[in-house]
Amino acid sequence: MNIYDFTLTELEEYLVKNGFKKYNATQIIEWIYEKKVYDFNKMTNLSKKLISFLNENLVFENLEVIEVEKSTLANKYLLKLKDNNKIECVLMNHDYGYSLCVSSQVGCNMGCSFCESGRLKKVRDLTLGELVGQVLCVSKYENIRIDSIVVMGIGEPFDNFNNIKRFISVVTNNKMINIGQRHLTISTCGLVPKIYEFADLETGVNLAISLHAPNNEIRDKIMKVNHAYKIEKVMEALDYYISKTNRRVTIEYIMLEGINDSDECARELAKLIKGKLMYVNLIPYNETSNIDMKRSNLFKIKSFYDILKSNNINVTIRKEMGGNLSAACGQLRANAERL
Ligand code: SAH
Repeated sequence: MNIYDFTLTELEEYLVKNGFKKYNATQIIEWIYEKKVYDFNKMTNLSKKLISFLNENLVFENLEVIEVEKSTLANKYLLKLKDNNKIECVLMNHDYGYSLCVSSQVGCNMGCSFCESGRLKKVRDLTLGELVGQVLCVSKYENIRIDSIVVMGIGEPFDNFNNIKRFISVVTNNKMINIGQRHLTISTCGLVPKIYEFADLETGVNLAISLHAPNNEIRDKIMKVNHAYKIEKVMEALDYYISKTNRRVTIEYIMLEGINDSDECARELAKLIKGKLMYVNLIPYNETSNIDMKRSNLFKIKSFYDILKSNNINVTIRKEMGGNLSAACGQLRANAERL
């Protein structure tokens, strides 16, 4: 078993079950996360018996960087998993610190028509160890501390809900990755029952929702998930999340030329979210050669922005960090695998 596959509580239970002390878990975790020691033999405050138990039963399964694309403000990493599957993550250098965008699955089953990852089917969920592994791998590779994490890479996090819950616990535990709840954001395409479950966790973790359309007619065309969960149901679930957590929700809206970028769409979107604790992040679409959709031109994006603004909606246009990167979600993996 991979040592990164345990939350603190799980490691405590595992050790107690095998005849060791609960506090041994904290000792091991401190070696790994504070002192960055990845060898049980070097954990000098553990008993010989415990060290040999650990050596027999657990391994440090680190992910391997196999390709890096660099630009001024962001790096994109292609990482290899133990079974040779590949995933991507992106490190962004913001003025407030380093932010890492992690993947949640190998591929994705949501099938959004604009998305490179959705073009390819899900191979499998990522394990907790692989979610954590992305953070450890990139911070070690660059020798930096990561300040915030967004789960916006390949995959649908709420389709891997249990591991995402455990990941939240490892990320926010002050003995482990130690990133505050407010510096972690999960992005979903709108799996409604899971939005309720997430709300009921009552954490301070941020929620972003890939809305991308102001009505069912357009959303049905570009996002398969809308056939199962209509916009009204998504909005109800978000209202519930806000009532439970009092946290502001991010509405992600990709600007696709001629599809969802008209002034009428902007007015409809404003009406949909007016008065709610939400803000809109307009995302200039990253084009890919495999998908026949275009990015809205800058004037359209600006006009969309102005309409939202004049309706008192909080809105930003996503700053482009990727530049020359294969920035479309899943593009680097797809190219590497020739998928
Ligand atoms: N499945 C989750 C998280 C992964 S996608 C979700 O849907 O939110 C992360 C974000 O990138 C989503 O908003 C997705 O719609 C968007 N995205 C996908 N392909 C893109 C592209 N080519 N250009 C810009 N954004 C894209």
